[in-house]
Amino acid sequence: MSRQGIGMTSQRTRERLIQRLMDQGITRFEVLEAIRSVPRHLFVDEALAHRSYEDTALPIGYGQTLSQPYVVAKMSELALAHGRPKKVLELGSGSGYQTAILASLVDEICAIERIKPLLDRARRQLRELRVRNVRLRHGDGLDGWPSEAPFDLILAAAAPEHIPSGLLEQLAPGGRLIMPVGGRRQQLTMVTASPEGYVEEVIEEVNFVPMVRGVRR
Ligand code: SAH
Repeated sequence: MSRQGIGMTSQRTRERLIQRLMDQGITRFEVLEAIRSVPRHLFVDEALAHRSYEDTALPIGYGQTLSQPYVVAKMSELALAHGRPKKVLELGSGSGYQTAILASLVDEICAIERIKPLLDRARRQLRELRVRNVRLRHGDGLDGWPSEAPFDLILAAAAPEHIPSGLLEQLAPGGRLIMPVGGRRQQLTMVTASPEGYVEEVIEEVNFVPMVRGVRR
């Protein structure tokens, strides 16, 4: 089942994406290298494979989208800014694309997705790519994963209206929460659990799907 031979997934198309990310200010070598090496075309439907190295979000079914490469890169850079996080909680793993990128940048990932068929597909894809440091779970990310807490990093790919305080409690000291927050207008927000309390920073405006309560079979 190899789709690697098709022209649009060629090394040249991928290099063009890397150049575009660099032009937009992504500088960290490990992040660019991760994006270069993870085959994004395997995370979308075959009919969309020819667009998989464009810097755009792409539909993955169930009204959800595979995140835009720039945003994945930006969040990954923020995640690494103060050293390599060991234990990470990812909320809204969707296709598993961002999970695969993160997996090469951190030690261990616990990932939660609320839509069961997406979760199953991501699990198969990650297994095929031999990504081994990820545990995926069907659940509501708004609850976090208390039995695995604390986390050095919590990263979300869906936007709640407000920062869920329950998630902040699952951060290790010095840990960071990186997530889009808001309704129609969303801000990519980073919260650091510092000794003086939670410090919140707004990074830039973004456009994610909403974070939804509950699970879907
Ligand atoms: N990074 C993913 C993005 C997927 S879109 C990718 O690259 O494919 C965001 C995902 O968040 C969707 O799959 C959606 O089902 C999921 N989601 C939304 N609310 C959630 C919640 N409360 N808990 C877990 N996942 C959630």
